[in-house]
Amino acid sequence: MHELGILNSMIHTIQNVVNEQGITEVDKLVIEIGELSGIVPHYIEECWPAARYKTFMENTELELIVIPGMVKCRDCGEVFNAVSADLSCPKCGSRNMEILEGNDMIIKEIICK
Ligand SMILES: [Zn+2]
Repeated sequence: MHELGILNSMIHTIQNVVNEQGITEVDKLVIEIGELSGIVPHYIEECWPAARYKTFMENTELELIVIPGMVKCRDCGEVFNAVSADLSCPKCGSRNMEILEGNDMIIKEIICK
């Protein structure tokens, strides 16, 4: 489970950003997690209380938005959700695909009081 490490480095990054702006408290953090990122949203939620403990984000609420893992078949051009199609093209069965979106995790919003 690498989610705790991901959150720790994310908190560190945000701290650097908000410190520059003189912000000491963050109300809410919104993160987008792609279905193909290899990051499990459920684990992120579970790790959040541990990750924020004794940091400047101790009272910060976390909101997760899951971005569908959309891919395009390189053989027939079909665009589909890779996760619900079990990683093969529903039209031609090919597993040769290009990721269009949903393969990363981004900080969408940092909301302060
Ligand atoms: Zn196809």
